[in-house]
Amino acid sequence: MDQRFDELKRRLLEINDLTSAAALLRWDQTTYMPAGGAPARARQLATLERLAHEQLTAAETARLLERLERESGSLPYDSDEAALLRVTRRLYDQAVRVPARFVAELSEHAAAIYQVWTEARPANDFKRVRPLLERTLDLSRQYSGYFSGWQSIADPLIDLSDYGLKAAEIRELFGRLRQRLVPLVRAITERPPADDSCLSHAIPAERQLAFGLEVIRRFGYDFDRGRQDLTHHPFMTKFSLGDVRILTRVRENDFTDSLFSTLHECGHALYEQGIRMDLEGTPLAAGASSGVHESQSRLWENLVGRSLPFWRHSYPAIQAAFPEALKRVPLETFYAAINKVERSLIRTDADEVTYNLHVMLRFDLELDLLEGRLAIADLAEAWRARFQKDIGIPVPDDRNGALQDVHWFSGPIGGAFQGYTLGNILSAQFFAAARRDHPGIVKEIEAGEFKTLRGWMRDRIYQHGSKFTPAEIVQRATGQPMTIEPYMEYLWDKYQPLYDLERDAVTAPA
Ligand code: ZN
Repeated sequence: MDQRFDELKRRLLEINDLTSAAALLRWDQTTYMPAGGAPARARQLATLERLAHEQLTAAETARLLERLERESGSLPYDSDEAALLRVTRRLYDQAVRVPARFVAELSEHAAAIYQVWTEARPANDFKRVRPLLERTLDLSRQYSGYFSGWQSIADPLIDLSDYGLKAAEIRELFGRLRQRLVPLVRAITERPPADDSCLSHAIPAERQLAFGLEVIRRFGYDFDRGRQDLTHHPFMTKFSLGDVRILTRVRENDFTDSLFSTLHECGHALYEQGIRMDLEGTPLAAGASSGVHESQSRLWENLVGRSLPFWRHSYPAIQAAFPEALKRVPLETFYAAINKVERSLIRTDADEVTYNLHVMLRFDLELDLLEGRLAIADLAEAWRARFQKDIGIPVPDDRNGALQDVHWFSGPIGGAFQGYTLGNILSAQFFAAARRDHPGIVKEIEAGEFKTLRGWMRDRIYQHGSKFTPAEIVQRATGQPMTIEPYMEYLWDKYQPLYDLERDAVTAPA
């Protein structure tokens, strides 16, 4: 059996090398590649992805998997070998059921609609993408058709990013969260708005970047196994456990944009850098799901990076770094400014409280489309109606409405949004559990120390990679299944004093 395991690992290592090389090409494409490189780069990526897909779905992979599954009955559930077989089986099944010609068709279609969207969005022209978006919906439904046993047609698409969660469970969870958030947003926005004028000062890009890098160095980002570069849409990418990179952008007139996107991507990177080195090259050496991954980016960005204890320690440093903006601004004003809550149009600029309403709207519309209750022709109008109802402001145009996010215009409809809100919910659940185990964590943050918090996350979450399912990780780390209560408590404890809220103004936490 050992020899067959080695054989399987060798095959998986080659797949890993192909996908890592593709990730490096993509990183280069969004950073340094000249525009002239685009056509060849698209072809090179397609070649690498095809080779990886062929290797994964090869008869030899299936043969090895089946034999090992037969022989591995006695392996303990939480052994690396048993986990490797489970995860490889899942990836194999996901890949083998979908015909190669469909994969090629979907990716060709995605490239075509993306191109049209880049012109239709600034032109505010929903009609132009409509026929292509109808095709996307057809293809998304077709994808799910290759799988059996689902309750919602969205389930196989959700499995790709948040394995094991069903549309029905997420809808129920989000429904409860929405009931609590809508009155909280109403109560906050009835109070006088926070003054955030101190944030809009022109600060040179180099100084903005230097400050962000100093913060993530203290968070524990390992620069010997990573680096930061500039791009349009910040993200984190990994070529091996020894090379986990982050990308950020700079807005000269809003230094919080580069700062918080750096902290966000650092959270994703701490997760990947914290995976056990001996899982390298296997499919276990990756984060468990988009929800668990996002819990870490949101934890370091928001629960730490936008907290009062953090700034009690770091405020003198940022005042010294950006004196033209902050020299005469008291800490309390700055803290209120970086946590300003307002009804706004754009998801990626939304504050912690309204953000989830933006996500849930997209998730529900996706389900309506996939499950046949909504036609693409009525999507823009459905968006406006729901936005007005939940966020409480009119959507002036489709550019700020249904055309806003890249997700529906670069891949299937379904499965791409829920992870953002799952991440917010989990960030608070993990943080509360860490504080239960180590009540001194907040005092440490106030002293500019993050070792205990990072150590807890590494022990309970990071080191395991995707050895356990997202549900198993949550249960093992916090002793209970995913729940919205710690998140609602976190929001209440933070925003009640900031906006002087009265307890009976909202449905208070149980
Ligand atoms: Zn993220």
